[in-house]
Amino acid sequence: MSTGGPSLPQQRNLVTSIPGPESLARLDRKKAHVADGVGTMLPVFVVAAGGGVLVDADGNSLIDLGSGIAVTSVGNAAPSVVSRVQEQVAAFTHSCFMVTPYDGYVDVCEQLAELTPGDHEKKSALFNSGAEAVENAVKIARVATGRDAVAVFDHAYHGRTNLTMAMTAKNMPYKNGFGPFAGEVYRVPMSYPFRDDLSGEEAAKRAIDVMDKQIGADNLACVVIEPIQGEGGFVVPAPGFLPALSAWAKDTGVVFVADEIQTGFCRTGDWFACDDEGVEPDLITLAKGIAGGLPLAAVTGRAELMDAVHVGGLGGTYGGNPVACAAGLGALEEMRSHDLTGRARDIGTRMADRLRKIAADHPVIGDVRGRGAMMAIELTTPGTLSPEPVRTAAVSSYCHQQGVVTLTCGTWGNVVRFLPPLSISDTLLDEALDVVAEAFAATA
Ligand SMILES: *Cc1c(COP(=O)(O)O)cnc(C)c1O
Repeated sequence: MSTGGPSLPQQRNLVTSIPGPESLARLDRKKAHVADGVGTMLPVFVVAAGGGVLVDADGNSLIDLGSGIAVTSVGNAAPSVVSRVQEQVAAFTHSCFMVTPYDGYVDVCEQLAELTPGDHEKKSALFNSGAEAVENAVKIARVATGRDAVAVFDHAYHGRTNLTMAMTAKNMPYKNGFGPFAGEVYRVPMSYPFRDDLSGEEAAKRAIDVMDKQIGADNLACVVIEPIQGEGGFVVPAPGFLPALSAWAKDTGVVFVADEIQTGFCRTGDWFACDDEGVEPDLITLAKGIAGGLPLAAVTGRAELMDAVHVGGLGGTYGGNPVACAAGLGALEEMRSHDLTGRARDIGTRMADRLRKIAADHPVIGDVRGRGAMMAIELTTPGTLSPEPVRTAAVSSYCHQQGVVTLTCGTWGNVVRFLPPLSISDTLLDEALDVVAEAFAATA
Protein backbone atom coordinates (compact mmCIF):
# COMPACT_ATOMS: atom_id res chain seq x y z
CA MET A 1 0.00 0.00 0.00
CA SER A 2 1.34 3.39 -0.97
CA THR A 3 0.78 6.31 1.33
CA GLY A 4 -0.46 9.50 -0.26
CA GLY A 5 -1.39 12.92 1.05
CA PRO A 6 0.60 16.13 1.29
CA SER A 7 3.77 14.41 2.57
CA LEU A 8 4.40 12.88 -0.88
CA PRO A 9 7.46 14.47 -2.56
CA GLN A 10 6.07 17.52 -4.36
CA GLN A 11 7.84 17.13 -7.67
CA ARG A 12 7.30 16.16 -11.28
CA ASN A 13 9.43 13.11 -11.91
CA LEU A 14 9.13 10.89 -14.97
CA VAL A 15 10.95 7.56 -14.88
CA THR A 16 9.19 5.98 -17.91
CA SER A 17 7.25 7.21 -20.90
CA ILE A 18 3.59 8.07 -20.19
CA PRO A 19 1.83 5.69 -19.80
CA GLY A 20 4.64 3.40 -18.61
CA PRO A 21 4.83 -0.41 -18.93
CA GLU A 22 3.08 -1.12 -15.61
CA SER A 23 0.18 1.13 -16.52
CA LEU A 24 -0.01 -0.39 -20.00
CA ALA A 25 -0.25 -3.89 -18.49
CA ARG A 26 -3.06 -2.71 -16.21
CA LEU A 27 -4.74 -1.07 -19.20
CA ASP A 28 -4.94 -4.51 -20.84
CA ARG A 29 -6.79 -5.77 -17.75
CA LYS A 30 -9.08 -2.73 -17.94
CA LYS A 31 -9.85 -3.52 -21.57
CA ALA A 32 -10.70 -7.11 -20.63
CA HIS A 33 -12.97 -6.33 -17.67
CA VAL A 34 -14.26 -2.76 -17.83
CA ALA A 35 -16.93 -1.68 -20.30
CA ASP A 36 -15.42 0.30 -23.18
CA GLY A 37 -18.02 3.03 -22.61
CA VAL A 38 -16.10 3.99 -19.47
CA GLY A 39 -13.23 5.88 -21.09
CA THR A 40 -9.99 7.07 -19.53
CA MET A 41 -8.36 10.30 -20.66
CA LEU A 42 -4.84 9.59 -19.43
CA PRO A 43 -4.35 5.89 -18.67
CA VAL A 44 -1.75 6.05 -15.91
CA PHE A 45 -2.88 3.89 -13.00
CA VAL A 46 -2.73 5.93 -9.80
CA VAL A 47 -1.28 4.43 -6.63
CA ALA A 48 -0.94 7.54 -4.45
CA ALA A 49 -1.71 11.26 -4.61
CA GLY A 50 -1.51 14.39 -2.48
CA GLY A 51 -0.58 18.07 -2.45
CA GLY A 52 -0.24 18.76 -6.17
CA VAL A 53 0.93 15.38 -7.48
CA LEU A 54 -0.35 12.00 -8.64
CA VAL A 55 2.00 8.98 -8.46
CA ASP A 56 1.44 6.12 -10.92
CA ALA A 57 2.15 2.39 -10.95
CA ASP A 58 5.48 2.94 -12.74
CA GLY A 59 6.70 5.41 -10.10
CA ASN A 60 6.10 8.51 -12.23
CA SER A 61 5.06 11.61 -10.32
CA LEU A 62 2.73 13.88 -12.33
CA ILE A 63 1.52 17.40 -11.58
CA ASP A 64 -2.22 17.43 -11.08
CA LEU A 65 -4.08 20.30 -12.80
CA GLY A 66 -7.42 18.48 -12.74
CA SER A 67 -8.22 17.51 -9.13
CA GLY A 68 -10.21 14.54 -10.48
CA ILE A 69 -12.52 17.13 -12.13
CA ALA A 70 -12.64 19.75 -9.35
CA VAL A 71 -13.14 17.19 -6.59
CA THR A 72 -9.95 17.06 -4.53
CA SER A 73 -9.80 20.82 -4.00
CA VAL A 74 -8.46 20.29 -0.47
CA GLY A 75 -5.81 17.95 -1.90
CA ASN A 76 -5.86 14.18 -2.25
CA ALA A 77 -5.90 12.24 1.02
CA ALA A 78 -6.05 15.53 2.95
CA PRO A 79 -5.19 14.94 6.63
CA SER A 80 -8.55 16.03 8.12
CA VAL A 81 -10.43 13.95 5.57
CA VAL A 82 -8.30 10.86 6.20
CA SER A 83 -8.47 11.05 10.01
CA ARG A 84 -12.23 11.66 10.15
CA VAL A 85 -12.93 8.93 7.62
CA GLN A 86 -10.74 6.44 9.50
CA GLU A 87 -12.52 7.22 12.75
CA GLN A 88 -15.97 6.94 11.17
CA VAL A 89 -15.31 3.82 9.16
CA ALA A 90 -14.17 2.01 12.32
CA ALA A 91 -17.24 3.20 14.28
CA PHE A 92 -19.97 2.27 11.77
CA THR A 93 -20.14 2.29 7.98
CA HIS A 94 -23.87 2.63 7.31
CA SER A 95 -27.23 2.65 9.01
CA CYS A 96 -29.26 4.44 6.30
CA PHE A 97 -30.22 7.91 7.48
CA MET A 98 -33.86 7.19 6.54
CA VAL A 99 -33.87 4.23 8.94
CA THR A 100 -31.77 5.34 11.92
CA PRO A 101 -30.11 8.79 11.75
CA TYR A 102 -26.68 9.94 12.91
CA ASP A 103 -24.95 13.26 13.67
CA GLY A 104 -22.58 13.53 10.68
CA TYR A 105 -25.46 14.07 8.24
CA VAL A 106 -27.00 16.82 10.36
CA ASP A 107 -23.58 18.42 10.94
CA VAL A 108 -23.00 18.67 7.17
CA CYS A 109 -26.46 20.21 6.64
CA GLU A 110 -25.89 22.71 9.45
CA GLN A 111 -22.61 23.86 7.87
CA LEU A 112 -24.10 24.09 4.38
CA ALA A 113 -26.81 26.42 5.70
CA GLU A 114 -24.14 28.66 7.16
CA LEU A 115 -21.75 28.67 4.18
CA THR A 116 -24.09 28.96 1.16
CA PRO A 117 -25.15 32.43 -0.07
CA GLY A 118 -27.91 34.31 1.79
CA ASP A 119 -28.96 34.75 5.42
CA HIS A 120 -32.43 33.22 4.98
CA GLU A 121 -33.44 30.04 6.78
CA LYS A 122 -32.06 27.03 4.87
CA LYS A 123 -32.30 23.26 4.95
CA SER A 124 -30.48 20.52 3.04
CA ALA A 125 -30.87 16.96 1.77
CA LEU A 126 -27.84 14.79 0.98
CA PHE A 127 -27.23 12.48 -1.98
CA ASN A 128 -24.42 10.53 -3.67
CA SER A 129 -23.69 12.31 -6.93
CA GLY A 130 -24.10 15.64 -8.60
CA ALA A 131 -26.67 14.32 -11.07
CA GLU A 132 -28.76 13.03 -8.19
CA ALA A 133 -28.62 16.43 -6.51
CA VAL A 134 -29.79 18.14 -9.73
CA GLU A 135 -32.64 15.62 -10.13
CA ASN A 136 -33.74 16.30 -6.58
CA ALA A 137 -33.57 20.08 -6.97
CA VAL A 138 -36.01 19.71 -9.89
CA LYS A 139 -38.28 17.44 -7.83
CA ILE A 140 -38.35 19.99 -5.02
CA ALA A 141 -38.99 22.93 -7.36
CA ARG A 142 -41.85 21.08 -9.06
CA VAL A 143 -43.59 20.20 -5.81
CA ALA A 144 -43.04 23.67 -4.35
CA THR A 145 -44.42 25.51 -7.42
CA GLY A 146 -46.91 23.00 -8.80
CA ARG A 147 -45.33 23.67 -12.22
CA ASP A 148 -43.55 21.29 -14.62
CA ALA A 149 -41.13 23.07 -16.93
CA VAL A 150 -37.38 23.36 -16.40
CA ALA A 151 -35.20 25.96 -18.16
CA VAL A 152 -31.52 25.24 -18.80
CA PHE A 153 -28.85 26.94 -20.91
CA ASP A 154 -26.80 26.42 -24.03
CA HIS A 155 -23.53 24.60 -23.19
CA ALA A 156 -24.96 23.41 -19.84
CA TYR A 157 -23.78 20.24 -18.14
CA HIS A 158 -25.89 18.76 -15.36
CA GLY A 159 -25.11 15.02 -15.41
CA ARG A 160 -25.71 11.67 -17.08
CA THR A 161 -28.97 10.34 -15.59
CA ASN A 162 -32.07 10.52 -17.78
CA LEU A 163 -33.37 13.86 -16.54
CA THR A 164 -29.92 15.41 -16.32
CA MET A 165 -29.02 14.17 -19.83
CA ALA A 166 -32.05 16.12 -21.02
CA MET A 167 -30.69 19.14 -19.14
CA THR A 168 -27.16 18.72 -20.52
CA ALA A 169 -26.54 20.44 -23.88
CA LYS A 170 -23.80 18.46 -25.58
CA ASN A 171 -24.68 15.33 -27.55
CA MET A 172 -21.32 13.47 -27.81
CA PRO A 173 -20.39 11.75 -25.59
CA TYR A 174 -23.10 12.41 -23.01
CA LYS A 175 -26.39 11.81 -24.83
CA ASN A 176 -25.81 10.11 -28.17
CA GLY A 177 -28.12 7.11 -28.55
CA PHE A 178 -29.37 7.27 -24.94
CA GLY A 179 -32.77 8.87 -25.58
CA PRO A 180 -35.67 9.33 -25.34
CA PHE A 181 -34.98 12.00 -22.75
CA ALA A 182 -37.20 13.47 -20.04
CA GLY A 183 -39.72 16.04 -21.23
CA GLU A 184 -40.48 19.62 -20.22
CA VAL A 185 -36.83 20.68 -20.40
CA TYR A 186 -36.26 23.88 -22.41
CA ARG A 187 -32.93 25.34 -23.51
CA VAL A 188 -32.33 29.08 -23.51
CA PRO A 189 -29.36 31.19 -24.67
CA MET A 190 -26.39 31.64 -22.35
CA SER A 191 -24.26 34.75 -21.89
CA TYR A 192 -20.93 33.88 -23.56
CA PRO A 193 -18.90 37.10 -23.74
CA PHE A 194 -16.21 35.67 -26.06
CA ARG A 195 -18.87 34.60 -28.59
CA ASP A 196 -21.53 37.28 -28.24
CA ASP A 197 -21.22 41.00 -27.81
CA LEU A 198 -23.97 41.31 -25.25
CA SER A 199 -23.77 42.89 -21.82
CA GLY A 200 -25.03 40.76 -18.95
CA GLU A 201 -28.32 42.68 -18.93
CA GLU A 202 -28.79 42.24 -22.70
CA ALA A 203 -28.01 38.53 -22.55
CA ALA A 204 -30.41 38.11 -19.62
CA LYS A 205 -33.11 39.93 -21.59
CA ARG A 206 -32.59 37.53 -24.50
CA ALA A 207 -32.87 34.48 -22.20
CA ILE A 208 -35.88 35.88 -20.34
CA ASP A 209 -37.66 36.61 -23.63
CA VAL A 210 -37.29 32.95 -24.63
CA MET A 211 -38.60 31.79 -21.25
CA ASP A 212 -41.53 34.23 -21.39
CA LYS A 213 -42.53 33.55 -24.97
CA GLN A 214 -41.64 29.88 -25.48
CA ILE A 215 -42.35 28.41 -22.03
CA GLY A 216 -44.36 30.97 -20.06
CA ALA A 217 -43.27 31.82 -16.54
CA ASP A 218 -46.49 30.32 -15.14
CA ASN A 219 -45.42 26.90 -16.43
CA LEU A 220 -41.84 27.16 -15.26
CA ALA A 221 -40.87 25.38 -12.02
CA CYS A 222 -37.22 26.34 -12.09
CA VAL A 223 -34.34 27.79 -14.03
CA VAL A 224 -31.14 25.83 -13.47
CA ILE A 225 -27.80 27.45 -14.23
CA GLU A 226 -24.11 26.89 -13.55
CA PRO A 227 -22.85 30.33 -12.43
CA ILE A 228 -19.66 29.51 -14.34
CA GLN A 229 -20.19 26.66 -16.77
CA GLY A 230 -17.97 23.62 -16.25
CA GLU A 231 -17.94 20.95 -18.99
CA GLY A 232 -19.43 23.51 -21.41
CA GLY A 233 -16.14 25.43 -21.50
CA PHE A 234 -15.69 27.48 -18.29
CA VAL A 235 -18.02 30.08 -19.73
CA VAL A 236 -18.20 33.04 -17.34
CA PRO A 237 -21.38 35.02 -18.02
CA ALA A 238 -21.08 38.79 -18.42
CA PRO A 239 -21.51 40.76 -15.18
CA GLY A 240 -25.16 41.43 -14.44
CA PHE A 241 -26.44 38.29 -16.20
CA LEU A 242 -26.97 36.18 -13.08
CA PRO A 243 -28.43 39.00 -10.95
CA ALA A 244 -30.93 39.85 -13.71
CA LEU A 245 -32.03 36.22 -14.10
CA SER A 246 -32.32 35.79 -10.37
CA ALA A 247 -34.42 38.99 -10.06
CA TRP A 248 -36.72 37.84 -12.88
CA ALA A 249 -37.14 34.43 -11.24
CA LYS A 250 -38.06 36.10 -7.98
CA ASP A 251 -40.67 38.31 -9.67
CA THR A 252 -42.28 35.41 -11.50
CA GLY A 253 -42.20 32.78 -8.74
CA VAL A 254 -39.71 30.62 -10.65
CA VAL A 255 -37.24 28.73 -8.42
CA PHE A 256 -33.69 29.90 -9.20
CA VAL A 257 -31.34 26.92 -8.93
CA ALA A 258 -27.58 27.46 -9.02
CA ASP A 259 -25.71 24.29 -10.01
CA GLU A 260 -22.46 24.89 -8.12
CA ILE A 261 -21.32 21.28 -8.38
CA GLN A 262 -18.11 22.31 -10.17
CA THR A 263 -17.76 25.92 -8.94
CA GLY A 264 -18.45 25.36 -5.25
CA PHE A 265 -16.30 25.04 -2.14
CA CYS A 266 -13.61 27.69 -2.56
CA ARG A 267 -12.79 26.81 -6.19
CA THR A 268 -13.52 30.29 -7.61
CA GLY A 269 -11.99 32.24 -4.73
CA ASP A 270 -15.28 32.51 -2.83
CA TRP A 271 -17.11 29.77 -1.01
CA PHE A 272 -19.49 29.71 -4.00
CA ALA A 273 -19.39 31.36 -7.42
CA CYS A 274 -22.73 33.11 -6.75
CA ASP A 275 -21.04 35.08 -3.95
CA ASP A 276 -19.12 37.12 -6.55
CA GLU A 277 -22.19 39.16 -7.54
CA GLY A 278 -24.16 38.62 -4.33
CA VAL A 279 -26.66 36.31 -6.03
CA GLU A 280 -28.74 34.28 -3.56
CA PRO A 281 -30.13 31.18 -5.25
CA ASP A 282 -33.34 29.62 -3.94
CA LEU A 283 -31.74 26.19 -4.26
CA ILE A 284 -28.10 25.28 -4.76
CA THR A 285 -26.80 21.90 -5.94
CA LEU A 286 -23.47 20.74 -4.53
CA ALA A 287 -21.12 17.78 -5.01
CA LYS A 288 -17.55 17.38 -6.36
CA GLY A 289 -15.38 19.50 -4.00
CA ILE A 290 -17.67 18.94 -1.00
CA ALA A 291 -15.95 15.89 0.51
CA GLY A 292 -12.32 15.63 -0.61
CA GLY A 293 -13.05 12.75 -3.00
CA LEU A 294 -15.73 10.71 -1.28
CA PRO A 295 -19.13 10.57 -2.97
CA LEU A 296 -21.37 13.16 -1.36
CA ALA A 297 -23.83 15.65 -2.85
CA ALA A 298 -26.44 18.05 -1.53
CA VAL A 299 -29.34 20.28 -2.31
CA THR A 300 -29.40 23.27 0.02
CA GLY A 301 -32.09 25.91 -0.14
CA ARG A 302 -34.86 28.02 1.31
CA ALA A 303 -36.44 26.08 4.17
CA GLU A 304 -39.97 26.64 2.86
CA LEU A 305 -39.05 25.17 -0.54
CA MET A 306 -37.10 22.25 0.90
CA ASP A 307 -39.99 21.48 3.28
CA ALA A 308 -42.60 21.56 0.50
CA VAL A 309 -41.91 17.89 -0.25
CA HIS A 310 -43.96 15.28 1.66
CA VAL A 311 -42.17 13.21 4.30
CA GLY A 312 -40.40 10.29 2.62
CA GLY A 313 -40.30 12.06 -0.76
CA LEU A 314 -36.55 12.68 -0.65
CA GLY A 315 -33.80 10.22 0.14
CA GLY A 316 -31.98 7.13 -1.10
CA THR A 317 -30.19 4.18 0.50
CA TYR A 318 -26.73 5.76 0.61
CA GLY A 319 -27.50 9.49 0.52
CA GLY A 320 -25.38 11.19 3.17
CA ASN A 321 -23.52 7.97 4.02
CA PRO A 322 -21.72 8.43 7.37
CA VAL A 323 -18.23 7.92 5.90
CA ALA A 324 -18.94 10.45 3.12
CA CYS A 325 -20.28 12.92 5.70
CA ALA A 326 -17.15 12.48 7.82
CA ALA A 327 -15.09 13.23 4.71
CA GLY A 328 -17.25 16.31 4.06
CA LEU A 329 -16.69 17.61 7.57
CA GLY A 330 -12.96 16.99 7.17
CA ALA A 331 -12.89 18.81 3.83
CA LEU A 332 -14.74 21.82 5.27
CA GLU A 333 -12.24 21.90 8.13
CA GLU A 334 -9.37 21.96 5.61
CA MET A 335 -11.03 24.79 3.67
CA ARG A 336 -11.47 26.93 6.78
CA SER A 337 -8.14 26.21 8.46
CA HIS A 338 -6.06 26.78 5.29
CA ASP A 339 -8.09 29.77 4.00
CA LEU A 340 -8.66 28.00 0.70
CA THR A 341 -10.80 30.82 -0.73
CA GLY A 342 -7.76 33.10 -0.41
CA ARG A 343 -5.49 30.41 -1.83
CA ALA A 344 -7.83 29.93 -4.82
CA ARG A 345 -7.65 33.67 -5.53
CA ASP A 346 -3.84 33.62 -5.43
CA ILE A 347 -3.71 30.59 -7.70
CA GLY A 348 -6.13 32.37 -10.04
CA THR A 349 -3.97 35.47 -10.29
CA ARG A 350 -0.88 33.38 -10.89
CA MET A 351 -2.52 31.24 -13.58
CA ALA A 352 -4.23 34.18 -15.32
CA ASP A 353 -0.98 36.18 -15.54
CA ARG A 354 0.91 33.27 -17.00
CA LEU A 355 -1.85 32.15 -19.38
CA ARG A 356 -2.19 35.71 -20.74
CA LYS A 357 1.56 35.74 -21.43
CA ILE A 358 1.29 32.42 -23.26
CA ALA A 359 -1.72 33.78 -25.20
CA ALA A 360 0.30 36.83 -26.27
CA ASP A 361 2.83 34.48 -27.93
CA HIS A 362 0.24 32.11 -29.39
CA PRO A 363 -2.70 33.81 -31.10
CA VAL A 364 -4.51 30.46 -31.35
CA ILE A 365 -5.52 31.21 -27.75
CA GLY A 366 -8.59 33.35 -28.39
CA ASP A 367 -9.70 33.76 -24.80
CA VAL A 368 -8.30 33.38 -21.28
CA ARG A 369 -11.10 33.24 -18.74
CA GLY A 370 -12.30 31.86 -15.44
CA ARG A 371 -12.18 32.85 -11.82
CA GLY A 372 -9.88 31.77 -9.02
CA ALA A 373 -8.51 28.27 -9.43
CA MET A 374 -10.96 27.60 -12.28
CA MET A 375 -9.23 28.99 -15.38
CA ALA A 376 -9.38 28.03 -19.04
CA ILE A 377 -8.12 28.95 -22.48
CA GLU A 378 -10.28 28.69 -25.59
CA LEU A 379 -8.46 27.84 -28.83
CA THR A 380 -9.73 29.32 -32.10
CA THR A 381 -8.28 30.02 -35.53
CA PRO A 382 -6.48 33.33 -34.89
CA GLY A 383 -8.73 36.35 -35.24
CA THR A 384 -11.91 34.23 -35.59
CA LEU A 385 -14.35 32.27 -33.43
CA SER A 386 -13.69 29.07 -35.36
CA PRO A 387 -12.87 26.31 -32.83
CA GLU A 388 -9.50 24.48 -32.91
CA PRO A 389 -10.24 21.10 -31.25
CA VAL A 390 -7.33 19.27 -32.94
CA ARG A 391 -4.74 21.72 -31.64
CA THR A 392 -6.45 21.63 -28.23
CA ALA A 393 -6.11 17.85 -28.07
CA ALA A 394 -2.47 18.09 -29.20
CA VAL A 395 -1.64 20.63 -26.48
CA SER A 396 -3.32 18.58 -23.79
CA SER A 397 -1.69 15.38 -24.98
CA TYR A 398 1.76 17.03 -24.96
CA CYS A 399 1.16 18.06 -21.35
CA HIS A 400 0.24 14.47 -20.45
CA GLN A 401 3.42 13.10 -22.06
CA GLN A 402 5.40 15.59 -19.99
CA GLY A 403 3.70 14.62 -16.74
CA VAL A 404 1.11 17.37 -16.36
CA VAL A 405 -2.52 16.30 -16.01
CA THR A 406 -4.66 18.77 -17.95
CA LEU A 407 -8.32 18.42 -18.91
CA THR A 408 -10.20 19.71 -21.93
CA CYS A 409 -13.83 20.78 -22.19
CA GLY A 410 -16.20 22.94 -24.23
CA THR A 411 -19.02 22.30 -26.67
CA TRP A 412 -16.46 22.18 -29.51
CA GLY A 413 -13.73 20.43 -27.45
CA ASN A 414 -11.50 23.47 -27.92
CA VAL A 415 -10.96 24.54 -24.31
CA VAL A 416 -8.13 23.51 -21.99
CA ARG A 417 -9.19 23.90 -18.38
CA PHE A 418 -7.07 24.19 -15.27
CA LEU A 419 -8.41 22.99 -11.92
CA PRO A 420 -5.40 22.44 -9.66
CA PRO A 421 -5.92 21.22 -6.14
CA LEU A 422 -5.79 24.24 -3.83
CA SER A 423 -3.02 22.41 -1.97
CA ILE A 424 -0.61 22.76 -4.94
CA SER A 425 2.58 24.78 -4.33
CA ASP A 426 3.48 27.84 -6.41
CA THR A 427 6.61 26.03 -7.58
CA LEU A 428 4.69 23.09 -8.98
CA LEU A 429 2.04 25.34 -10.50
CA ASP A 430 4.71 27.42 -12.27
CA GLU A 431 6.42 24.30 -13.52
CA ALA A 432 3.13 22.95 -14.88
CA LEU A 433 2.45 26.24 -16.69
CA ASP A 434 5.99 26.10 -18.16
CA VAL A 435 4.96 22.77 -19.67
CA VAL A 436 1.74 24.31 -21.03
CA ALA A 437 3.82 27.05 -22.69
CA GLU A 438 6.15 24.41 -24.17
CA ALA A 439 3.12 22.50 -25.42
CA PHE A 440 2.06 25.49 -27.54
CA ALA A 441 5.56 25.89 -28.96
CA ALA A 442 5.90 22.14 -29.64
CA THR A 443 2.51 21.85 -31.44
CA ALA A 444 2.74 25.11 -33.41
C1 LIG B 1 -20.02 17.11 -12.62
C2 LIG B 1 -21.22 17.94 -12.68
C3 LIG B 1 -22.51 17.41 -12.51
C4 LIG B 1 -22.74 15.93 -12.31
O1 LIG B 1 -22.13 15.44 -11.16
P1 LIG B 1 -21.88 13.85 -11.01
O2 LIG B 1 -21.38 13.71 -9.60
O3 LIG B 1 -20.87 13.46 -12.03
O4 LIG B 1 -23.20 13.20 -11.23
C5 LIG B 1 -23.58 18.27 -12.53
N1 LIG B 1 -23.41 19.59 -12.71
C6 LIG B 1 -22.20 20.14 -12.87
C7 LIG B 1 -22.08 21.62 -13.04
C8 LIG B 1 -21.06 19.33 -12.88
O5 LIG B 1 -19.86 19.88 -13.08
